[in-house]
Amino acid sequence: HSKKVGGNTYSFFTPSMNAFAQQRLELENGLRRALGNGEFELHYQPKVDVTSGRISSTEALIRWRHPERGLVPPGDFIPLAEETGLILQIGEWVLREACRQARQWQVNGMAPVRVAINMSATQFRQKNLVSIVKSALENANLEPTYLEIELTESAVMHNAAASAEILEQLSRLGVHISIDDFGTGYSSLNYLRRFPLDKLKIDRTFIKDVVANPEDAAIVQAIISLAHSLRLKVIAEGVETEQQLQFLRSLGCDQYQGFFCSPAMEPEAFAEMMRAKNPGKFDPLATMSRLY
Ligand code: C2E
Ligand code: MG
Ligand code: MG
Ligand code: MG
Repeated sequence: HSKKVGGNTYSFFTPSMNAFAQQRLELENGLRRALGNGEFELHYQPKVDVTSGRISSTEALIRWRHPERGLVPPGDFIPLAEETGLILQIGEWVLREACRQARQWQVNGMAPVRVAINMSATQFRQKNLVSIVKSALENANLEPTYLEIELTESAVMHNAAASAEILEQLSRLGVHISIDDFGTGYSSLNYLRRFPLDKLKIDRTFIKDVVANPEDAAIVQAIISLAHSLRLKVIAEGVETEQQLQFLRSLGCDQYQGFFCSPAMEPEAFAEMMRAKNPGKFDPLATMSRLY
Protein backbone atom coordinates (compact mmCIF):
# COMPACT_ATOMS: atom_id res chain seq x y z
CA HIS A 1 0.00 0.00 0.00
CA SER A 2 1.42 3.33 -0.97
CA LYS A 3 0.91 6.90 0.14
CA LYS A 4 0.20 9.65 -2.33
CA VAL A 5 2.23 12.81 -2.04
CA GLY A 6 0.06 15.94 -2.15
CA GLY A 7 -0.44 17.25 -5.68
CA ASN A 8 0.02 20.93 -4.85
CA THR A 9 3.66 20.81 -3.82
CA TYR A 10 5.82 23.33 -5.60
CA SER A 11 9.49 22.63 -6.02
CA PHE A 12 12.20 25.26 -6.24
CA PHE A 13 14.38 22.73 -7.98
CA THR A 14 15.78 23.77 -11.32
CA PRO A 15 18.40 21.84 -13.29
CA SER A 16 20.90 24.63 -12.63
CA MET A 17 20.48 24.28 -8.90
CA ASN A 18 22.00 21.12 -7.56
CA ALA A 19 20.37 18.96 -4.94
CA PHE A 20 22.77 20.28 -2.29
CA ALA A 21 21.86 23.91 -2.90
CA GLN A 22 18.18 23.03 -2.89
CA GLN A 23 18.56 21.25 0.44
CA ARG A 24 20.31 24.26 1.91
CA LEU A 25 17.58 26.59 0.73
CA GLU A 26 14.91 24.35 2.23
CA LEU A 27 16.82 24.16 5.51
CA GLU A 28 17.27 27.92 5.63
CA ASN A 29 13.55 28.52 5.00
CA GLY A 30 12.80 25.86 7.58
CA LEU A 31 14.91 27.64 10.18
CA ARG A 32 13.11 30.94 9.57
CA ARG A 33 9.78 29.18 9.93
CA ALA A 34 11.00 27.41 13.07
CA LEU A 35 11.84 30.74 14.71
CA GLY A 36 8.42 32.13 13.88
CA ASN A 37 6.52 28.99 14.89
CA GLY A 38 8.38 28.28 18.10
CA GLU A 39 9.75 24.94 16.92
CA PHE A 40 12.99 25.18 18.93
CA GLU A 41 13.37 23.59 22.34
CA LEU A 42 16.08 23.55 24.96
CA HIS A 43 16.98 20.26 26.60
CA TYR A 44 19.06 20.18 29.75
CA GLN A 45 22.02 18.00 30.66
CA PRO A 46 23.15 17.90 34.31
CA LYS A 47 26.62 19.06 35.32
CA VAL A 48 27.55 16.95 38.31
CA ASP A 49 30.03 17.62 41.12
CA VAL A 50 32.56 14.79 40.99
CA THR A 51 32.97 14.48 44.75
CA SER A 52 29.44 15.09 46.07
CA GLY A 53 27.41 13.79 43.12
CA ARG A 54 25.21 16.86 43.37
CA ILE A 55 23.87 18.60 40.29
CA SER A 56 25.11 22.17 40.53
CA SER A 57 24.33 23.37 37.05
CA THR A 58 22.98 22.31 33.69
CA GLU A 59 23.77 22.88 30.02
CA ALA A 60 20.96 23.99 27.72
CA LEU A 61 21.27 22.24 24.35
CA ILE A 62 19.06 23.29 21.48
CA ARG A 63 16.85 20.88 19.52
CA TRP A 64 14.51 21.54 16.62
CA ARG A 65 11.09 19.91 16.90
CA HIS A 66 10.59 19.57 13.15
CA PRO A 67 7.00 18.89 12.04
CA GLU A 68 8.06 16.04 9.73
CA ARG A 69 11.59 15.10 10.71
CA GLY A 70 11.04 14.87 14.46
CA LEU A 71 13.70 16.04 16.89
CA VAL A 72 16.65 17.45 14.93
CA PRO A 73 20.04 17.76 16.73
CA PRO A 74 22.00 21.03 16.62
CA GLY A 75 24.77 19.58 14.46
CA ASP A 76 22.25 19.37 11.60
CA PHE A 77 21.28 23.05 11.58
CA ILE A 78 23.62 25.23 13.68
CA PRO A 79 26.35 25.33 10.99
CA LEU A 80 23.91 26.69 8.38
CA ALA A 81 22.40 29.06 10.95
CA GLU A 82 25.92 30.44 11.44
CA GLU A 83 26.55 30.81 7.70
CA THR A 84 23.28 32.63 7.11
CA GLY A 85 23.46 34.85 10.19
CA LEU A 86 20.23 33.34 11.56
CA ILE A 87 22.32 32.25 14.53
CA LEU A 88 21.92 35.75 15.98
CA GLN A 89 18.15 35.37 16.29
CA ILE A 90 18.37 31.73 17.35
CA GLY A 91 21.07 32.55 19.89
CA GLU A 92 19.01 35.34 21.40
CA TRP A 93 16.03 33.01 21.68
CA VAL A 94 18.27 30.45 23.46
CA LEU A 95 19.55 33.10 25.87
CA ARG A 96 16.08 34.37 26.76
CA GLU A 97 14.53 30.93 27.02
CA ALA A 98 17.36 29.61 29.24
CA CYS A 99 16.99 32.61 31.59
CA ARG A 100 13.22 32.20 31.67
CA GLN A 101 13.50 28.47 32.46
CA ALA A 102 16.16 28.98 35.14
CA ARG A 103 13.91 31.51 36.89
CA GLN A 104 10.80 29.37 36.44
CA TRP A 105 12.51 26.45 38.18
CA GLN A 106 13.44 28.69 41.10
CA VAL A 107 9.88 29.98 41.36
CA ASN A 108 8.68 26.37 41.35
CA GLY A 109 10.88 25.70 44.39
CA MET A 110 13.66 23.71 42.74
CA ALA A 111 17.14 23.92 44.29
CA PRO A 112 18.77 26.73 42.26
CA VAL A 113 20.93 25.64 39.34
CA ARG A 114 23.13 27.65 37.06
CA VAL A 115 22.09 27.28 33.42
CA ALA A 116 24.81 27.29 30.77
CA ILE A 117 24.15 28.29 27.17
CA ASN A 118 26.35 27.75 24.13
CA MET A 119 27.22 30.94 22.34
CA SER A 120 28.54 30.96 18.79
CA ALA A 121 31.45 33.16 17.75
CA THR A 122 29.16 35.32 15.60
CA GLN A 123 26.86 35.95 18.52
CA PHE A 124 29.78 36.69 20.84
CA ARG A 125 31.11 39.32 18.45
CA GLN A 126 27.80 41.11 17.86
CA LYS A 127 27.92 44.78 18.80
CA ASN A 128 25.24 44.97 21.47
CA LEU A 129 25.84 41.55 23.06
CA VAL A 130 26.30 42.79 26.61
CA SER A 131 23.07 44.79 26.59
CA ILE A 132 21.21 41.81 25.10
CA VAL A 133 22.46 39.58 27.92
CA LYS A 134 21.61 42.22 30.50
CA SER A 135 18.11 42.66 29.13
CA ALA A 136 17.53 38.88 29.02
CA LEU A 137 18.50 38.60 32.70
CA GLU A 138 16.35 41.55 33.72
CA ASN A 139 13.39 40.35 31.70
CA ALA A 140 13.55 36.94 33.32
CA ASN A 141 14.25 38.44 36.74
CA LEU A 142 17.23 36.08 37.00
CA GLU A 143 20.32 36.82 39.09
CA PRO A 144 23.34 36.89 36.75
CA THR A 145 25.22 34.27 38.76
CA TYR A 146 22.71 31.68 37.51
CA LEU A 147 23.72 32.22 33.90
CA GLU A 148 26.83 30.67 32.38
CA ILE A 149 28.08 31.28 28.86
CA GLU A 150 30.08 28.58 27.06
CA LEU A 151 32.42 29.84 24.37
CA THR A 152 34.87 27.86 22.25
CA GLU A 153 38.57 28.65 22.15
CA SER A 154 38.29 29.88 18.56
CA ALA A 155 35.46 32.26 19.50
CA VAL A 156 37.54 34.02 22.15
CA MET A 157 41.06 33.66 20.77
CA HIS A 158 40.08 35.25 17.47
CA ASN A 159 40.82 38.91 18.14
CA ALA A 160 41.73 38.22 21.75
CA ALA A 161 42.10 41.87 22.75
CA ALA A 162 38.52 42.66 21.72
CA SER A 163 37.33 39.46 23.37
CA ALA A 164 38.97 40.42 26.65
CA GLU A 165 36.93 43.62 26.74
CA ILE A 166 33.61 41.82 26.11
CA LEU A 167 34.43 39.08 28.62
CA GLU A 168 35.31 41.76 31.16
CA GLN A 169 31.89 43.39 30.70
CA LEU A 170 30.04 40.07 30.90
CA SER A 171 31.98 39.12 33.97
CA ARG A 172 31.17 42.47 35.59
CA LEU A 173 27.48 41.70 35.01
CA GLY A 174 28.05 38.62 37.16
CA VAL A 175 27.55 35.86 34.60
CA HIS A 176 29.95 32.89 34.52
CA ILE A 177 32.10 32.12 31.52
CA SER A 178 33.57 28.81 30.44
CA ILE A 179 35.69 27.64 27.57
CA ASP A 180 33.97 24.77 25.76
CA ASP A 181 35.67 21.86 23.97
CA PHE A 182 38.96 22.89 25.57
CA GLY A 183 42.01 21.25 24.04
CA THR A 184 40.67 20.94 20.49
CA GLY A 185 41.39 24.51 19.43
CA TYR A 186 44.22 26.93 19.82
CA SER A 187 44.53 28.83 23.07
CA SER A 188 47.07 31.44 23.97
CA LEU A 189 48.00 30.64 27.56
CA ASN A 190 48.74 34.31 28.08
CA TYR A 191 45.13 35.21 27.24
CA LEU A 192 43.74 32.32 29.26
CA ARG A 193 45.41 33.94 32.21
CA ARG A 194 44.09 37.41 31.39
CA PHE A 195 40.49 36.54 30.52
CA PRO A 196 38.00 36.60 33.42
CA LEU A 197 37.04 32.92 33.07
CA ASP A 198 35.42 30.55 35.54
CA LYS A 199 35.80 27.13 33.99
CA LEU A 200 37.47 24.97 31.36
CA LYS A 201 35.48 22.16 29.76
CA ILE A 202 37.67 19.28 28.64
CA ASP A 203 36.52 18.09 25.23
CA ARG A 204 34.87 14.70 24.94
CA THR A 205 37.52 13.37 22.53
CA PHE A 206 40.09 13.29 25.39
CA ILE A 207 37.67 11.61 27.79
CA LYS A 208 36.60 8.81 25.44
CA ASP A 209 39.71 6.64 25.95
CA VAL A 210 41.14 8.38 29.01
CA VAL A 211 41.21 5.18 31.09
CA ALA A 212 43.12 3.07 28.55
CA ASN A 213 45.15 5.62 26.59
CA PRO A 214 48.12 7.13 28.49
CA GLU A 215 48.41 10.07 26.05
CA ASP A 216 44.80 11.08 26.59
CA ALA A 217 45.27 10.65 30.33
CA ALA A 218 48.33 12.91 30.21
CA ILE A 219 46.41 15.61 28.33
CA VAL A 220 43.47 15.43 30.72
CA GLN A 221 45.80 15.60 33.71
CA ALA A 222 47.62 18.58 32.19
CA ILE A 223 44.36 20.47 31.53
CA ILE A 224 43.17 19.84 35.09
CA SER A 225 46.36 21.13 36.63
CA LEU A 226 46.50 24.08 34.23
CA ALA A 227 42.94 25.02 35.19
CA HIS A 228 43.62 24.72 38.89
CA SER A 229 46.85 26.72 38.66
CA LEU A 230 44.84 29.51 37.04
CA ARG A 231 42.20 29.13 39.77
CA LEU A 232 39.60 27.87 37.30
CA LYS A 233 37.16 25.02 37.77
CA VAL A 234 37.41 22.16 35.34
CA ILE A 235 34.66 19.93 33.95
CA ALA A 236 34.93 16.81 31.78
CA GLU A 237 32.35 16.30 29.05
CA GLY A 238 31.25 12.97 27.57
CA VAL A 239 31.67 10.80 30.67
CA GLU A 240 29.93 7.52 29.89
CA THR A 241 31.35 4.99 32.37
CA GLU A 242 32.02 4.55 36.07
CA GLN A 243 35.71 3.89 35.24
CA GLN A 244 36.04 7.23 33.47
CA LEU A 245 34.41 8.99 36.43
CA GLN A 246 36.69 7.26 38.95
CA PHE A 247 39.73 8.15 36.90
CA LEU A 248 38.66 11.79 36.72
CA ARG A 249 38.00 11.80 40.44
CA SER A 250 41.54 10.54 41.09
CA LEU A 251 42.88 13.43 38.96
CA GLY A 252 40.91 16.00 40.93
CA CYS A 253 38.46 16.99 38.19
CA ASP A 254 35.70 19.19 39.71
CA GLN A 255 32.64 18.34 37.64
CA TYR A 256 31.49 16.03 34.87
CA GLN A 257 28.80 15.83 32.27
CA GLY A 258 27.83 12.80 30.26
CA PHE A 259 25.56 9.88 29.59
CA PHE A 260 26.86 8.17 32.76
CA CYS A 261 24.65 10.60 34.66
CA SER A 262 22.17 11.50 31.95
CA PRO A 263 21.76 12.77 28.39
CA ALA A 264 20.04 16.13 27.85
CA MET A 265 16.41 15.96 28.93
CA GLU A 266 13.24 17.96 28.51
CA PRO A 267 12.83 20.57 31.28
CA GLU A 268 10.28 18.55 33.24
CA ALA A 269 12.50 15.43 33.25
CA PHE A 270 15.42 17.53 34.44
CA ALA A 271 13.30 18.96 37.26
CA GLU A 272 12.29 15.40 38.17
CA MET A 273 15.94 14.36 38.42
CA MET A 274 16.68 17.41 40.57
CA ARG A 275 13.84 16.50 42.92
CA ALA A 276 15.35 13.04 43.30
CA LYS A 277 19.01 14.04 43.62
CA ASN A 278 19.05 17.62 44.97
CA PRO A 279 15.91 18.08 47.03
CA GLY A 280 15.05 21.77 47.21
CA LYS A 281 11.89 23.24 48.64
CA PHE A 282 9.88 20.57 46.78
CA ASP A 283 10.17 18.11 49.56
CA PRO A 284 9.55 19.38 53.11
CA LEU A 285 10.97 16.21 54.69
CA ALA A 286 14.22 16.44 52.76
CA THR A 287 14.53 20.12 53.64
CA MET A 288 14.02 19.31 57.33
CA SER A 289 16.51 16.48 57.31
CA ARG A 290 19.10 18.90 55.99
CA LEU A 291 18.36 21.33 58.81
CA TYR A 292 18.85 18.75 61.56
P1 C2E B 1 28.80 20.95 23.12
O1 C2E B 1 28.44 22.27 23.68
O2 C2E B 1 30.21 20.51 23.28
O3 C2E B 1 27.79 19.93 23.79
C1 C2E B 1 28.10 18.60 24.12
C2 C2E B 1 27.46 17.62 23.17
O4 C2E B 1 27.82 16.29 23.59
C3 C2E B 1 25.93 17.61 23.17
O5 C2E B 1 25.50 17.26 21.86
C4 C2E B 1 25.59 16.51 24.15
O6 C2E B 1 24.30 15.98 23.96
C5 C2E B 1 26.66 15.52 23.81
N1 C2E B 1 26.96 14.62 24.93
C6 C2E B 1 26.81 14.87 26.25
N2 C2E B 1 27.23 13.83 26.99
C7 C2E B 1 27.65 12.89 26.12
C8 C2E B 1 28.22 11.57 26.29
O7 C2E B 1 28.40 11.07 27.40
N3 C2E B 1 28.55 10.90 25.15
C9 C2E B 1 28.35 11.45 23.91
N4 C2E B 1 28.71 10.70 22.85
N5 C2E B 1 27.84 12.67 23.72
C10 C2E B 1 27.49 13.39 24.81
P2 C2E B 1 24.39 18.09 21.08
O8 C2E B 1 23.28 18.45 22.00
O9 C2E B 1 24.08 17.34 19.83
O10 C2E B 1 25.15 19.44 20.72
C11 C2E B 1 26.23 19.45 19.84
C12 C2E B 1 26.85 20.83 19.75
O11 C2E B 1 25.92 21.76 19.19
C13 C2E B 1 27.22 21.41 21.11
O12 C2E B 1 28.46 20.89 21.55
C14 C2E B 1 27.29 22.89 20.76
O13 C2E B 1 28.53 23.19 20.17
C15 C2E B 1 26.21 23.03 19.72
N6 C2E B 1 25.01 23.61 20.34
C16 C2E B 1 24.07 22.99 21.10
N7 C2E B 1 23.12 23.88 21.51
C17 C2E B 1 23.49 25.09 21.03
C18 C2E B 1 22.94 26.42 21.11
O14 C2E B 1 21.93 26.67 21.77
N8 C2E B 1 23.62 27.42 20.45
C19 C2E B 1 24.77 27.18 19.76
N9 C2E B 1 25.38 28.22 19.14
N10 C2E B 1 25.32 25.94 19.66
C20 C2E B 1 24.69 24.91 20.29
MG1 MG C 1 28.69 23.33 25.37
MG1 MG D 1 31.47 21.02 24.81
MG1 MG E 1 32.01 19.20 22.52
